[in-house]
Amino acid sequence: MTRNIDMYIDGAYTGALSGERIDDLNPATGEVIGSIARGARADVAAAVEAATRARDAWAATPPNARADVLERTAALIERNLDELAVLESEDTGKPVSLARSIDIPRAVANFRFFASAVRQETLAAHPMPMALNYTQRRPLGVVALITPWNLPLYLMSWKTAPALAMGNTIVAKPSELTPQTATRMAELLTAAGLPRGVFNLVHGYGSEVGQPLLEHAGVSGISFTGGTATGAIVAATAAPKFKKLSLELGGKNATIVFADADLDAALEGTVRAGFANQGEICLCGSRLLVERSIYNDFVRRYVERVGALKVGPPGAADTQVGALISLAHRDKVEGYLRLAREEGGTILCGGERPEGLEPGYADGAFLQPAVVGGLSPSCRTSTEEIFGPVVTVHPFDSDGEAIRIANGTDYGLSASVWTRDLRRAHRVSEALDVGMVWVNTWLLRDLRVPFGGVKNSGVGREGGRYSMEFFSDSKNICVHLGDSP
Ligand code: NAD
Repeated sequence: MTRNIDMYIDGAYTGALSGERIDDLNPATGEVIGSIARGARADVAAAVEAATRARDAWAATPPNARADVLERTAALIERNLDELAVLESEDTGKPVSLARSIDIPRAVANFRFFASAVRQETLAAHPMPMALNYTQRRPLGVVALITPWNLPLYLMSWKTAPALAMGNTIVAKPSELTPQTATRMAELLTAAGLPRGVFNLVHGYGSEVGQPLLEHAGVSGISFTGGTATGAIVAATAAPKFKKLSLELGGKNATIVFADADLDAALEGTVRAGFANQGEICLCGSRLLVERSIYNDFVRRYVERVGALKVGPPGAADTQVGALISLAHRDKVEGYLRLAREEGGTILCGGERPEGLEPGYADGAFLQPAVVGGLSPSCRTSTEEIFGPVVTVHPFDSDGEAIRIANGTDYGLSASVWTRDLRRAHRVSEALDVGMVWVNTWLLRDLRVPFGGVKNSGVGREGGRYSMEFFSDSKNICVHLGDSP
């Protein structure tokens, strides 16, 4: 039996006005698990109208009352963690254990974090001898939140919580491949006391429902996370209309291992960086740069570890790598492995479709994690985002060469550096053209720090006060206090 996955507009679930629907597929089994409302321009208009009607009352709701709603939402997500983890795994193919331990707890943390942050908001004041300036932060109004398929609830809540905290109303559009958890979240927000119309959700294809949302005159701000090519469309649509814009885009991140690193820790960290969530995280370290003196030994141990990762059904407790998001995406990743061979690379492990999977999973989008050696660091395989379980490995001879290779792509999202030399850690981190560097770790997140990239990895920052500033405009009021006696 398939589920109805409807839009959520003005506090109620609704199908598309056209009546059309699209299939929601489980990429691990190939089964149709749901039927998604296929939204279009008219549905977007209804959602923006509902958000506009709710706008002034929500903006006028005191921050503490908004924070109460966020906290209750966090508690409800927590209470429904098991169900949400299964829904997330069904849509994405990721291990249920990963969704239970990372994705859904992070959604809970996002709501709690911004509830607490907005309670502690203070205003800036700039006194002059004759006057007082004070600076308010006012909501943007109706904002559009557009998210990708790899971390569906994690990213949707990462935008929803600060947008609500700062008093905005929302029209959200999750990926058409992973609509389930956002749909459930809409209901939980209402159960937590969010007034109707404050959070609206539209479903469907990017070109049919995302594009009209970007274009709608009633939308004042857009927070977009997704691919760089789509980001360019978003920017070209929104910029001439002077909408506030945050773009979190793709990455091709370097992991740099120096010979003086704690190599056991580096091994553990670099395997996780390469293959967590099937390599489908924008921050994944998909280029592994290893100092030449330890290259052969380190890569041998790395390949051994990667080869031992357990690929299997998302529900199995020992599965470490689940299915990719779709068969089409697996074709794309396999295409890159063919390209890697054409470009002179050698597949050191993986890259095949696993055999002997449990009954029911033979048609799933599974792929053995792959490591590719022997490629030039400047070829397409080494510089384009693959967004799957593929890591290319490259030797380097000096700090300068490692930095040059790391910076030699159009992306600039993140990097990780593994060394015991403190000065080198600082020097190399400073020279990397990225928004985030981890030293001797990977993806260690503090929700207060700025998150985002440079070059083709995006524009703007989210996280902590950066999100709160994005989802509000400052307004300065200067009061003349009269001449001094
Ligand atoms: P995508 O760009 O194809 O889609 C992202 C979202 O945009 C989806 O909801 C899609 O329906 C929508 N969309 C597509 N065309 C649109 C249009 N014309 N107008 C408005 N919306 C449109 O990306 P994806 O394949 O879902 O996700 C993978 C990409 O996301 C990777 O490149 C990855 O690096 C990136 N990503 C970045 C971050 C980050 O924080 N920097 C985080 C996660 C994923």
